[in-house]
Amino acid sequence: MANSKPHAIVIPYPYQGHITPMINLCLNLASKNLIITFIPLEFNHHSISKAHNLHADEDIFTGARNAGLDIRYAPVSDGFPVDFDRDGNDVDRNYTDYWKTMFLDFPGRVDGLVAGIVASSGDSPPSIMITDTFFSWVATPICEKYGLLNVSLWTQPATVFAINYHFDLLRQNAHFPPQHGKGEEGIINYIPGVGSMRPRDLMSYVQYPDMIPMLTEIEVKSFDHVKQADFILYNTVEELESDTLSALNQILPSFPIGPINFYDASLARSLRPHTDCTEWLSSKPPSSVLYISFGSINFIADKEEVAEFAYGLLMSKVYFIWVIKDDNIHDQEKKFLPSDFKDGMGNRGLVVPWCDQGGVLASPATGGFLTHCGWNSVLESMWHGVPMICYPFLVDQPTNRKLVVDDWKIGVNLCDGGRVTREEVAEKIDVVMKGNSALRMKCEVEKVRKKLQDSLGGEGSSHKNLDLFCEGLKLRL
Ligand code: UDP
Repeated sequence: MANSKPHAIVIPYPYQGHITPMINLCLNLASKNLIITFIPLEFNHHSISKAHNLHADEDIFTGARNAGLDIRYAPVSDGFPVDFDRDGNDVDRNYTDYWKTMFLDFPGRVDGLVAGIVASSGDSPPSIMITDTFFSWVATPICEKYGLLNVSLWTQPATVFAINYHFDLLRQNAHFPPQHGKGEEGIINYIPGVGSMRPRDLMSYVQYPDMIPMLTEIEVKSFDHVKQADFILYNTVEELESDTLSALNQILPSFPIGPINFYDASLARSLRPHTDCTEWLSSKPPSSVLYISFGSINFIADKEEVAEFAYGLLMSKVYFIWVIKDDNIHDQEKKFLPSDFKDGMGNRGLVVPWCDQGGVLASPATGGFLTHCGWNSVLESMWHGVPMICYPFLVDQPTNRKLVVDDWKIGVNLCDGGRVTREEVAEKIDVVMKGNSALRMKCEVEKVRKKLQDSLGGEGSSHKNLDLFCEGLKLRL
C-alpha cells in the first residue's frame, strides 16, 4: 500500500436506526487511524443539516475533522427529489417503487462516485468498503470491481442475522412462506446457534410476507450478497448472544462490537430536530416517567389504537413523554389524539414530535420505556437500565421482543396479539413501574446494563473485537 493508513468508503442505509450506529462506527475507526469517506444519501444529508442548523460548509463530521480525524464526506443522490416521501403512507408508491428503482439504479450511482474517489485519492486510495448489510447488493459488485475488502455492518441482533442467513431452512421447514395454521404451531429449533422460538417470534417479513412484499425482497437480496462479505460487524454484545455469534463465526468472520450507539452524544446524527425535555424531566422524581416511542418510521396503526394508549396513560397516572412523530405536531394531535386527552393529562405528560432519546433514557426520572422494540431502542434502554413494555409491529421487532421478554426478562409484553386495550396499557405500566414487579425487573435490567457497559471497557469483549477486526483488516490489505 502506498500510504500506511487504510482508507474505507462507508455507506449507511438511509434510516435513523442504521445511520446512528454507522456514524459512530466511522468515528471509532477514524480514531483508530483509518481514513473514512462517508457517503450518505443526499436526502439524509439535507435532513441532518436542517435538524442541526449546519452551515453550508459544514457536515456532521466537521467537528471530528477539526479534532484531527480524517473523515471525508461525499453525499450521493438516489435520483429522487430530496423532499420525496420515501416511507410515506402509500406503501406501494412511496416505499416499493422507491426500492425497485434503487435496485436498478443505485449501484451504478455509487460506482460512479467510487471511481471518482479512487481517481482522486492520490497515495491513499480506498481499499475497504463498509456498507450496511441491507446494502450488501451495492457492495458486492463494487468491491469486486475495485478490489476492496467487503465489510458489512449489521444493525440488528445476531439472532435476526442468523435467521436471515438460514432462510433456506425456513423454506425447507415450511415456515416460509408461512402455512398459517400448521406454521403457527411448529417450533423453529433448527437455526444453528439460535434457541427455540415460535413462528410469532419470527420477523414480520417471514410471518406476513404479503403485508409489504418489498421488505422480504430487500432481505433476501441482501442476504444473498452478504455471503460474499469478508467481515461482518454486529451492533450487539457477545455476552448477550454468544451461541448465535459463535455459530455465525463458523461461517463468516464475525465481530460483535456493540453497542455502537453512544459515541460523543454532542455530535449531529439525528434526521429530525429534538424537542428538549431536560428541564421537564429534571423536575420529576426518580423512575416516575414512562417514555413512549415507536421509532423513526410511521407505525401507529389508527386513531382507535392511539386512543387506547392515550386513555391507558391517563388511567395509569404516571408522568410520561410520548413521541408522536410529525413535522407539525398540532396537526398530528388533531388527527390522532382524543380531544379530551390534553385536559386529562394536564402537566403530567409531554407529547413531542422527536426528542433526544438517549438523553431521556439516561435521566434518573425515566422508569420505563413503552417501545416498538427497534433494536437501537432496545440497546439504548438496556444501556441506561430502563425496563421495557414491548409492542412490536414490523421487521425485526417481534424477534427483538422475544429476546427482551422471554430470554433476558427485562420487559413485558403489552398484549398477546390482537388489539391493545386501555386497561392493558395501564396494567403493564404498573407492572414495569410500580411495586415488587418493578423492583424485580429493574434488578434484571441492571445485570444486562452491566454486561453492555463492561463490553466497551478496556477488557470488554466489544472493545477487543473492534481491535481484532482492525488487525484482521490490516492482515488482509
Ligand atoms: N430516536 C430519537 N428520538 C426520538 C425517537 C427515536 O433519537 O424521539 C432514535 C432512537 O434513539 C434510536 C432510533 O431513533 O436510535 C430508532 O431506531 P430503532 O432501531 O429503535 O427503531 P427504527 O426507527 O429503526 O424502527
